[in-house]
Order: sequence, then structure tokens, then C-alpha cells
Amino acid sequence: MSNIQEKDKKFVANTYARFPVTVVSGKGSVVFDDDGKRYIDMGSGIGVTSFGIADDEWAEAVTNQISCVQHMSNLYYTEPCAALAEILCEKTGLKKVFFSNSGAEANECAIKVARKYAAEKKGQDYYTIITLKNSFHGRTLTTLSATGQEHYHELFQPLTPGFVHAEANNFEDIKRLAEEYKTAAIMLECIQGEGGVNVIDADFVKKTAEYASENDIVLIIDEVQTGNGRTGELYCYMNYGIKPDIVTTAKGLGGGLPIGAALLGDKVESVLGFGDHGSTYGGNPVCCAGAYSIISRIDDELLASVKKKGKFVFESLSGAKGIEGVSGMGLMIGIKTEKKASDVVKACMEKGVLCLTAKDKVRLLPALNISDEILAEAIDIIKSVCAE
Ligand SMILES: *Cc1c(COP(=O)(O)O)cnc(C)c1O
Repeated sequence: MSNIQEKDKKFVANTYARFPVTVVSGKGSVVFDDDGKRYIDMGSGIGVTSFGIADDEWAEAVTNQISCVQHMSNLYYTEPCAALAEILCEKTGLKKVFFSNSGAEANECAIKVARKYAAEKKGQDYYTIITLKNSFHGRTLTTLSATGQEHYHELFQPLTPGFVHAEANNFEDIKRLAEEYKTAAIMLECIQGEGGVNVIDADFVKKTAEYASENDIVLIIDEVQTGNGRTGELYCYMNYGIKPDIVTTAKGLGGGLPIGAALLGDKVESVLGFGDHGSTYGGNPVCCAGAYSIISRIDDELLASVKKKGKFVFESLSGAKGIEGVSGMGLMIGIKTEKKASDVVKACMEKGVLCLTAKDKVRLLPALNISDEILAEAIDIIKSVCAE
């Protein structure tokens, strides 16, 4: 084991089961470890490095901003924060943006907004948030409560009260809970990422959105993983033809720097007032300059190419030997393999391809601009490992 790995094991809290690879450099969708071994990066830092490692345009935007002004408190205005909020609102039709530093914090903001909206509109007892079973919404105590997976909850009790979990794709269950509990919001991922790349049914999502709107319940779509071009639309809800009240995002937004955002629609744009919420780093100019360079380049041409690359992966893997099924949308892909997913990931890594898992599936979240050649090279290796 290298000195770096020994040191990490000794001094970094024990929360991640790391692979024995130390990444030292990279470019685009290729990274190198400290032995000089080359890997194709099919995980992009869990859907974070949207345009790959050390993307030139992104790096220039970030370094220019760093040498200009790297941080001011939120007591003052900075240009990248305003510009990023403007482009996000223009491209989504949502009205206002609160910037945070992570996905969990974006969801925390959405939950606060929904609860304040309901408290003012309907009364303080309307605090329940309905989320889906098998969802993932983050690691803070409140977003852990929102997460519909019991195994994350054990030993961290008591969690934040006021969260109930409906069966995914079962609209009657949403209705049952909304009638039983005084409900502030319904929150869901259109594709459950950590839950196993499960695409939620269009009919269920549409009915849920209509029901929320008719009953003045805030609809929150968690786009932390599905957002920022990942599924072939800027945000995944756009594939469903719905209009959420709040969209939360993070991961791919910053292209590799920590930033999250809660995008607020008409219904809730004025809910937060001075002092209701805040974050020291929120809207940090360097993160916003990086994110602006990402969001401004997610245009129709790029989205069409994400769809095309996604289609190539689906067609290459569907029905291939050792592969039971392929799920997902665009470049968010889950592969049900005959072999254990973790064994496939390990074998791929040895052959120079870095993949992720999600529950019992192999998960791929490559950079949105991965070249066709490198993508084909990685898919060949994944196929050969599954077929062995
Ligand atoms: C990753 C993820 C989160 C949490 O984001 P962090 O930045 O790790 O806090 C929340 N929701 C979804 C859907 C995610 O995939």
C-alpha cells in the first residue's frame, strides 16, 4: 500500500470504502494513478465533473475568478453569483435561486421553504413532507429523514420529525398519505440515483404533480444527480412535462467545485425573507464562475449529443452476454449484471475503467462530453467483463 493510502486510512475518518487507487492527474474522461496507470472515468466523481477532468474552459473561468476575488461575504454583491442565478432562471422559468454548498443543503433549503410556505398559508401543523421509498436526499439529519431507506436511519435517532415515505409509482399511496397527514410538500427524484437508477413512471410523476398543484402542496424535484444535462435535458423534470415549485441541484452544477442550488418557482419565490436562511460560502464567486461555465454550455447541441451517447450505451449493453437489463436516461445508466455489481466494478477497474455501483447495479455517469471513441472503448471493456 502506498504511503498516501496508509496516511489516509490512519487520519481520515472511516466513512468511505475506497478502492486502492490514488488518482494524481487527468484530462477529460481519462485519469492516471500514481503508478501512471490510465483509467477511463465512467463515474465523473459521481456525476460531478460534467465536462471531465481539468476542462480548459472551466479551469480558465475558475482560475480567472480566483485571482480576481475568491470570496466575499453575502453582505456584498459579486458578479458570478448574479450571473449564475440569472442563467438558471432563464433556462428553467423558475424565479429565484438560493445557493448552497452541496445537494443535502439544497434540499434543506427546499424543505425550509416548503414548511414556511405551508405554515403561513395553511397553519403550522401542515409540516409533513412526503418522499418516496428507496429515495436518497442527503446525509444531514433532516435530509436523512427525507431519505426513504431505513438502513441509513438506524443508530442516528431521533431524526427530524415530519417525513413519511410513499411507495414509488403508486399514486394512490401518495394520496393516502396526503389525506392522512397535513402535508407541506411532496419531494421526489425523477430517477432514483443511489436507489439503483430507477426511472420513475411518467404517469405517476404527472398525477403527483397535478395532485400537488390542486391541493396547494409544494412539489420539490430533487435533481442533485439527474440535473445539469445528465439525462439529455437540462433538468430531468423537463422529460416529464411537469412544472415543479422547487428544483434542487448540486453534483454536476459546479463541474467539480462544491455548489448546490434550490431553484424557487412562482408559488414560493417570495417565501424566504431576510435572515430566514443563509450560508457563509453560499454563492461563492469561484464556484459560481465554474458553474456558469458549465450551465452556459449545456445547450441543445450538447443535450442532443448526451441523448445520442446514452442511446449508444443502451443499445450496446442491452441483451449483451451477462447483462440482465439497462435502466436510466441519457448518460445516467444502471446495468443489472448477472455477476455481483461490485465484482464487475472491481474487474473493470483492473482493466482500466472506473465505474460506480447503485444498489445491485453497475452505475455509469460519464462526463457529458466524453468522446465517442473513449466511450466505445469503456463499453467494450464493461461488456467483456460482464460476459466472462
Ligand atoms: C448525491 C445526492 C444528494 C446529496 O448531495 P450531497 O452533495 O452529497 O450532499 C441528494 N440527493 C440526491 C438525489 C443525490 O444523488
